[in-house]
Amino acid sequence: MIFLVYIARKTLLLLIICFWLGSTLNSHLTYAQTSAKNDSTGKSEQPLYQFTYLDNQGQENTIQAAQVLEAQDGGVVMLTRDGRLLTATPKQLKQRRQLDQNFTPLKLPELEQQLVAEFGTDFVVTQTKHFIICSQAGKRYSKWCGSLFERLYKVLHNQWHSKELPLHDPKVPMIAVIFKDRANFEQYASQILGEGASAVHGFYSIQSNRMVLYDLTAAPNERPAFTDADILKKLRKSPFNMATIIHECTHQIAFNVGLHTRFADNPLWLTEGMATYFETPDLRSKTGWRTIGKPNPWRLRQFQNFARSRRTADSLQTLIMTDQRFQNPETMLDAYAEAWAFSYFLIKTKRKQYEAYLRLVADRKPLIWSTPEDRLKDFQSIFGDDLERLNQQFLRYMRQISR
Ligand SMILES: [Zn+2]
Repeated sequence: MIFLVYIARKTLLLLIICFWLGSTLNSHLTYAQTSAKNDSTGKSEQPLYQFTYLDNQGQENTIQAAQVLEAQDGGVVMLTRDGRLLTATPKQLKQRRQLDQNFTPLKLPELEQQLVAEFGTDFVVTQTKHFIICSQAGKRYSKWCGSLFERLYKVLHNQWHSKELPLHDPKVPMIAVIFKDRANFEQYASQILGEGASAVHGFYSIQSNRMVLYDLTAAPNERPAFTDADILKKLRKSPFNMATIIHECTHQIAFNVGLHTRFADNPLWLTEGMATYFETPDLRSKTGWRTIGKPNPWRLRQFQNFARSRRTADSLQTLIMTDQRFQNPETMLDAYAEAWAFSYFLIKTKRKQYEAYLRLVADRKPLIWSTPEDRLKDFQSIFGDDLERLNQQFLRYMRQISR
């Protein structure tokens, strides 16, 4: 049973998915969720609606969107043709009319118009095979990012696509907004993240489906990067920042090809484990991603330290049952490290079960929030009841790869 008031509260709590703390060179996150119907199935033939609703400022809007969900109180969750999720309470919703056509995503010319109107005429909109890039940074940096995103897309696809875990093409545009420098980024990010923006190098929002980044090579008083080699040289100085791009882009891809479902109950250890599994950049290789499958050195170090001194006997249980450790600044980095380590262990030693669990979570209905007990039950339905045994296997494995 779903009431929109509840959705709105939960949505606020879970707003943006992920960002990195520059000061400690580590990541943490918040999270956004509302709902999307059959996001993880191959086909989506959703009817298109025209909604007229009042936004939170009391402004009347008329939009075309799919109806992802109708709450019991008559409120709706709408998926816009540019991929955003909007909500309207029964009071805000003025009119809804089903149109005689199916939902289709916006095409580039319409998107371009919309993005330039939103961000300004100094943003240039380009398209790669799977991404729309709306960039205020120079042409070279945008192009370089585009090819990085596409490489990552291919890597993720090769890694996961199978008969048992079929991935689908993105159903709405995957938009990357790239600001020309940190100051411009921070100004924008602070409207969404508040004070958190100052510690962040990029984020992906499940609500807007956008990742927001900035030109990491644009340091104050430094000349811009002229060539790809120049970009790499500058980025090598800050590999952690570089990992932000890959981390956020992994989230975006995973939420758009069916590895995860936007607005469903996604345990953070699973989504963050996925992003941290891929985040180690492979700057030397232009074509491949040779670091995939190797331990993530930063997360491993953090995990070793955690396991040695702070890890409690019920650590696995709390990781699986709730997201709390990711939301508390004091336990956040350890939670990320454990999410990475645990995902790494499962992918390496229990791949079939890990895939089955991914599938189970991706098939969850939107906006139905599991209780901690349900999360544990779901996990145990795939990996078995004996958590203590699994914990011992996990720690043994991590000790082995630490040698
Ligand atoms: Zn993340």
